[in-house]
Amino acid sequence: TNGVHAPTWVAPLIRALYEKHVGQNWDEIALNPEGWKKGVEKISDEELWHAHLLLKQRLVAFVRHRSFHARLNNNESMDYTESARTMFDPNALTIGFARRVAAYKRWSLLLTDPHRLLRLINNEERPVQFVFAGKAHPQDQGAKFILQQLARWKYDPLVRHRAVFLQDYDQEIARQLVQSVDVWMNVPRRPLEASGTSGEKVAMNGGLNLSVLDGWWIEGYDGTNGFAIGDEAEGNEAAEVDESDAQSLYRKLEEEVVPIYYERDADGIPRRWVAMMKRSLETLVPAFNSDRMVEEYARRIYL
Ligand SMILES: *Cc1c(COP(=O)(O)O)cnc(C)c1O
Repeated sequence: TNGVHAPTWVAPLIRALYEKHVGQNWDEIALNPEGWKKGVEKISDEELWHAHLLLKQRLVAFVRHRSFHARLNNNESMDYTESARTMFDPNALTIGFARRVAAYKRWSLLLTDPHRLLRLINNEERPVQFVFAGKAHPQDQGAKFILQQLARWKYDPLVRHRAVFLQDYDQEIARQLVQSVDVWMNVPRRPLEASGTSGEKVAMNGGLNLSVLDGWWIEGYDGTNGFAIGDEAEGNEAAEVDESDAQSLYRKLEEEVVPIYYERDADGIPRRWVAMMKRSLETLVPAFNSDRMVEEYARRIYL
């Protein structure tokens, strides 16, 4: 399975924690699971959570800025354009979903039941906000669905503050998203995902993965370091699999992701969530980085 280059994708704020607790050569230590785990264990919940919150604040500023200018360019109404300045909430559970144009990524799976999705987004006490990013290619049916649905929600003041589509997904948008979201969602149709490197970029920044057990996630998920959608059964009709994966996705969000994220102690720290962030860092960074990948290609194939 492929891996990603940690020094490229890790946010400076998170890198500073690795340098302090793991060591200046943290990216080398990351290749040794035991040494890496020892270092990550020294990062306090408070430090990790507060660094993550700062990154989310930066993401909210980025979303507002991009949306404001996109609306201005599209000659949207003054009211709608201005509202971009206050959209999104750095404290709300933030889920990222970005992809290339490829049907197997099943972009519209999340829209299988729009009312159920709306209930998640609209929850007053425990809201969920979504950042979508893509190319909005004319042939991209999935992105078109999302854009149509967002257009319908455009005049619903609550929803329009909590769901956004960023056009022209590129490395800059990817960097902003993978360094800052709470959760990265990936819902490919099995077994078509070769790897899914964007989720690996999220993992090394402390974000949690919510993904179908395919590609890297079937190797990385261990029951404690993120969330799995669906099961591993194969051979059913595509439509049946889509329907059952959609139900599984909503259930995971409603019963696990949202409750664990919003469970806080007296200091306002989501201890169970932060414990999962640390499990994710400990278990995934040593395996899904490009140093391990290159070493393995060299040893097992080229040499
Ligand atoms: C990482 C990345 C990808 C690849 O993501 P996958 O999850 O492997 O499909 C695509 N586009 C951009 C801009 C990226 O940064």
